[in-house]
Amino acid sequence: MSDVLLEVKNLKKYYNVSSGVLHAVDDVSFNLNRGETLGIVGESGCGKSTLGKTILRLVNPTSGEVNFEGQNIASMDLKEFNKMRPQIQMIFQDPMSALNPRMSIKQQIEEPLLIYNLIPDKTERANRVLELMDTVGLARRYAEMYPHELDGGRRQRIGIARGLALNPKLIVCDEPVSALDVLIQAQILNLLQDLQKEKGLTYMFITHDLSVVKHISNNICVMYLGQIVEMCPTKELFEKTLHPYTKALLSAIPVPSLKNRRERILLKGELTSPINPEDKCRFAPRCLYATEQCFKTCPSLQDMGGGHVVACHRVKELNNL
Ligand code: SF4
Repeated sequence: MSDVLLEVKNLKKYYNVSSGVLHAVDDVSFNLNRGETLGIVGESGCGKSTLGKTILRLVNPTSGEVNFEGQNIASMDLKEFNKMRPQIQMIFQDPMSALNPRMSIKQQIEEPLLIYNLIPDKTERANRVLELMDTVGLARRYAEMYPHELDGGRRQRIGIARGLALNPKLIVCDEPVSALDVLIQAQILNLLQDLQKEKGLTYMFITHDLSVVKHISNNICVMYLGQIVEMCPTKELFEKTLHPYTKALLSAIPVPSLKNRRERILLKGELTSPINPEDKCRFAPRCLYATEQCFKTCPSLQDMGGGHVVACHRVKELNNL
């Protein structure tokens, strides 16, 4: 069995809009190994959530491949893909809007089991719901309650229980902790890590906040306006940051000690339009180091060794490599 669970190759998702073609995801490629976590990081509008939805076929890709266990699910007939869907699940950002306010906690967790008729026997199914509540640390006394009666952390635990109900191999976590306060964030991240160890789960973790994925990702992929600009093992990204955009994102993370405080890099300049983008570095209008070449050609990803790839014309010069 190959170590690679998910292989994304030249994936594109374009939308026709009144003023042209919006390049939401533009030629994205990466591999994700079994039992590992890939953090997908970028500002709002960088295409990270569309990437997750395209992989899950919640939106259909424009072109490219999404190979899950060696099968290209991007080109699969939807009927055929639906048979595989239990293996790929999603945890959403806002548990309140992802849950049905008129269904009890027990019914919400039971729903995916009913849809896929995974456990036809009613008693066995009820036991599985309670087991899932135990797994995600939700006390059984909440089973008959409704989402509005619980706090944000507990509601997200329901989302995780629903995600786990069908025994998936891959879970796409779309900003699962961004609506929660810091203490609850840590509890949910710890829970996701424990579940990964216990069940060998593979995560694609989408977030705007680099500090959230620092401790849980094996690799991080930084996206800017639909494209990957830097991707490497997590430790390397924090210790040997190469792309000017990633450096700006890192500088925004608060550091508790005065000694290690970095200077905040403020990004100025206009955002490039993702509609009919020109052949140039999309970060150029906001980049402190942009030259004429940056406005003339789009940099492709360069292999810097050790699994580190960067899309910047000046990467060697700027980092003394
Ligand atoms: Fe900045 Fe040019 Fe590198 Fe783009 S290619 S990140 S504009 S230096």
